[in-house]
Amino acid sequence: MQITMVASEFAPLAKTGGLADVVYGLARELASRGHDLEVILPRYDTLLSEDVPAPESYLSDLQVPFHDESIRCDVHLVETGGVRCFLIDPDSSRRLFARGTLYGERDDPERFAFFSLAALEFMFQTGRRPDVVHCHDWQTGLVPVLLFELYEQLGMTHPRVCYTLHNVRHQGVTGEAVLRQVGLDPRRVMTPDRLLDHSYPDAVNLMKGGIVYANFVTTVSPRYASEIQHTELGCGLQPVLEGHASKFRGVLNGLDYEDWNPATDLRIAAPYSAENLDAKDANRDALRASLGLEDAAKPVVAMVTRLDRQKGVDLIEHAIDFSLAAQAQVVLLGAATEPQLHKRFVEIRDRLADNSDCRIELRHDERLAHQIYAGADMVVLPSAYEPCGLTQIIALRYGAVPIVRATGGLADTVFDANYSERDFFARNGYTFSDFSPAGLESAMRRAISLWYTHPDYYRQLQLNGMAYDYSWTEPGGHYLDIYRHIVQA
Ligand code: ADP
Repeated sequence: MQITMVASEFAPLAKTGGLADVVYGLARELASRGHDLEVILPRYDTLLSEDVPAPESYLSDLQVPFHDESIRCDVHLVETGGVRCFLIDPDSSRRLFARGTLYGERDDPERFAFFSLAALEFMFQTGRRPDVVHCHDWQTGLVPVLLFELYEQLGMTHPRVCYTLHNVRHQGVTGEAVLRQVGLDPRRVMTPDRLLDHSYPDAVNLMKGGIVYANFVTTVSPRYASEIQHTELGCGLQPVLEGHASKFRGVLNGLDYEDWNPATDLRIAAPYSAENLDAKDANRDALRASLGLEDAAKPVVAMVTRLDRQKGVDLIEHAIDFSLAAQAQVVLLGAATEPQLHKRFVEIRDRLADNSDCRIELRHDERLAHQIYAGADMVVLPSAYEPCGLTQIIALRYGAVPIVRATGGLADTVFDANYSERDFFARNGYTFSDFSPAGLESAMRRAISLWYTHPDYYRQLQLNGMAYDYSWTEPGGHYLDIYRHIVQA
């Protein structure tokens, strides 16, 4: 099958979070099964290039009509993991993707509307007619709208569109001018059953457009699929999703099991697996040594997270204090998404600067993240909501017991040691429901107490988690079923 992903992130090149890992992991999985995979991505000036060859020029005169001008784009090609990735680089005084950041610009809707149009124009002008175009999040919500409103009439009748919602909190709500810029007629598409926003009567909702026009819509876990249809976590999209329920499904994200493999991970001090779990201790020692933590007979509680309200910042702070009070050591690796949150965690770090049981690192650090998962005994995720979450899946893979709030994908992947209905060997962590300090404590207390009182049982919990297969194998199969379904419909 020919599959083209259109996305604003792709892990080796452009990443702010899980979206990048998902696009990369799924594309690689499908390519490894013999499918023809292409990815279209903006060429940001912040492009990462670790382990990726330099992009080569592929096309230098892609003309994209945008409002009353035509913007010339260079297209570059880079191949990685069996996937061809095309990078769209507009030559415009507006420097659409040369902002030193992926998102957070005032004209984000306009920038990504342009990108969606340029991606289609690239496919159209180069004769590409993939079986499936798979696009992601609000940034590419206009792709199916443009395909079925404009490009189908120009002869692009073949592709079907799968659209994945990674986080419905951000929907791309903007003024109607963006429609005219990409050549759409606002009178036609700005209706309640198409792109008109539910809260703002004059606004366009790009994510809603993607949901309405795509042939199939997925989100990143079954639980989140239900939450966004039936609770306020849908952020106003509930009626749209309920109205399109017959083409909507939750598919749990996978984890790249090659990148995240404690047996072969070159970033960690000592490789280990379920067969020699004792070697994990050397990683705990190395983590303590590198961070200057005391060499004490205490469990290491870790958090690796964006410091964002979604992730439960109040409870993250509480988890630090509770761990220390409960005779555990604690390591936090977090990058704040807002200056006030950064300031708040700098204060917490300063308050605990002399405590040799605690280290707080406020930055994004891929290598340290690997070392933390390898060295940690438990990983805490007290999220307010979590569409899927990769952190708990990585923790399971690295034999660190996850302690999570039972929401979204966390509830679909972590099964409580005491209360799960699953068989004992299928229990792999601790969960709590109440988004409160008391709720968090109820789970953390049980985990820390088990570590101290029943180390054999704790070890079994680690092994239970390591035995789960949350690789891309199963979700890759689900996505292929969805693609075949929409191609045949
Ligand atoms: P989200 O996409 O909402 O941030 P996910 O759990 O889906 O959350 O993905 C988070 C990914 O980013 C994981 O691979 C996690 O290890 C990584 N990560 C988060 N914060 C950091 C950080 N400060 N440094 C390094 N990696 C991080």
